[in-house]
Amino acid sequence: MTTTSAHDTPEDNAPLGGVHIKYLHHCPRQLWLYCRGYRPEQRSDLVAFGEVVDDTTFTRRRDVDLGEAKIDWVTAGAIVHETKSSRAPVPAHAAQVRHYCLLLERRGVTVRGGTVHYPLVRRTTDVPWNADARAAAEASEAEARAVITASEIPGRLKRPACRGCSYLDYCWGD
Ligand code: SF4
Repeated sequence: MTTTSAHDTPEDNAPLGGVHIKYLHHCPRQLWLYCRGYRPEQRSDLVAFGEVVDDTTFTRRRDVDLGEAKIDWVTAGAIVHETKSSRAPVPAHAAQVRHYCLLLERRGVTVRGGTVHYPLVRRTTDVPWNADARAAAEASEAEARAVITASEIPGRLKRPACRGCSYLDYCWGD
């Protein structure tokens, strides 16, 4: 198990990627641990399954690497696309896409919106990009920074909400 220590504390202004925003919305504790070097997701079967779905579903797409974030692909008119291996949308998915829209906009791109793809259920959901979405993305960013720089580890979620989380071992000793 990876241990955490004071020198692992991340910098206040370190760039935030999609995974930071996804973890914030899933569980602030997960974000806090991730930013201190705890990365059990590399061993998680669920994550590995997601990567397989991701790798085999869309063969013609091109990643857009922003440094702090890697966007699955962006189509004409600046529509951000994100692929998920889950069968149902959760708020974290749209929040992640909004974060990508924000990052692109800050680089001078006129963003039109986003789409989350759920290939296992052949479904997509649109993520609008407008003033409200921008405000939500900025709020998520601020919230993530507050969690990351907190001196205390955030509390656990209720046990049923932890189902499938790759941090179960750390949090619950499973
Ligand atoms: S196991 Fe539960 S409390 Fe721990 S990081 Fe995952 S969701 Fe959060």
